[in-house]
Amino acid sequence: METRIVRINYTKENEPDPASEKAIAEAGRILKEGGLVAFPTETVYGLGGDAFNPESSRRIYQAKGRPSDNPLIVHIADIGDLPELSDRIPKEAYLLSDRFWPGPLTMILPKKDRVPKETTGGLDTVAIRFPSNPAAKALIREGGGFIAAPSANRSGRPSPTSAKYVIEDLSGRVDVILDGGDCVIGLESTIVDLTSEIPTVLRPGGVTLEELREVLGDVEIDRALIKDDSGIAPKAPGMKYRHYAPKGDLTVVRGEKAAVERYINGEIEKARNTPGHHIITAVIASTETASSYRADIIKNIGAREDENAIARNLFRILRECDDEGAGRIFAESFAGPGLKEAVMNRLLKAAGHKEITV
Ligand code: AMP
Ligand code: MG
Repeated sequence: METRIVRINYTKENEPDPASEKAIAEAGRILKEGGLVAFPTETVYGLGGDAFNPESSRRIYQAKGRPSDNPLIVHIADIGDLPELSDRIPKEAYLLSDRFWPGPLTMILPKKDRVPKETTGGLDTVAIRFPSNPAAKALIREGGGFIAAPSANRSGRPSPTSAKYVIEDLSGRVDVILDGGDCVIGLESTIVDLTSEIPTVLRPGGVTLEELREVLGDVEIDRALIKDDSGIAPKAPGMKYRHYAPKGDLTVVRGEKAAVERYINGEIEKARNTPGHHIITAVIASTETASSYRADIIKNIGAREDENAIARNLFRILRECDDEGAGRIFAESFAGPGLKEAVMNRLLKAAGHKEITV
């Protein structure tokens, strides 16, 4: 299949310009006909298909190489469309949509019969999000209002935060890729299950636990998230897969600044002195510490205080470590509240939970 790559440009008002609008309308027509379109959102790039067309959903799984029990998120561009997907909408859903939509929040609700099981990975519930990216909103509208879209990466790779990585993963596998520049958040949406008695976070993301609690009061965290090796199956099927794993051996190092630097530099020295094949070493560091390391590759993820930069840069850096052939990767820990919860969830997943405290 030939993949068309279309650049989206914006007006001063941050709306797609007339030429981009035309391209989005054409992409919307392709979605309605059962085709696949990758598009930018504020979280990560999505791989879209018509959510009501089971064949489109099958094609999404095929293009990604995704296990078919891992459900897709249905994207809408109008809160009024929510009742088309679910007929049991609790008041919490409206409290959340008032505050966080459009934005990086996904809600799980009981699904209506018309939502095909192919879209929900066989589940009786459906995941729903209203993204804020203007190109995404326009595409959803043009595509009929209900677009199933997981992240636009090949299964097992970090979610793409720029079109370059979508092209790398999905060229020849989708009809159109809309290139709308870099994603502003860079991590996937927060998923909240509203079908349990107490609303439960299944995946941390752009909306923080603190923000959810401000609106809902009591909010639980899926126990499987707290420790991945607890033996409990996560409630979001996708969370059980080892996502984001770079090819190199990644370890997260936690502790006082000086101890972390000493430990990582010591390990780099050891890797260097291992006879035989040279192992390329990399460190994922903060602006404050980047100059202290002696690795072959130093990735500055952002200032420690700047959780937005850390979130935005993480997936790009994991991909770059692969592209540059890093065999051993050490990452500082960015543990903390707010967005750092989501950062550490992804980073520890990428490390297969290999974390040491020094
Ligand atoms: P992605 O869009 O690639 O980040 O993947 C969608 C995520 O949403 C995966 O982790 C899915 O397991 C999760 N998800 C989608 N639908 C549901 C659902 N009905 N119940 C629980 N988790 C879901
Ligand atoms: Mg994904």
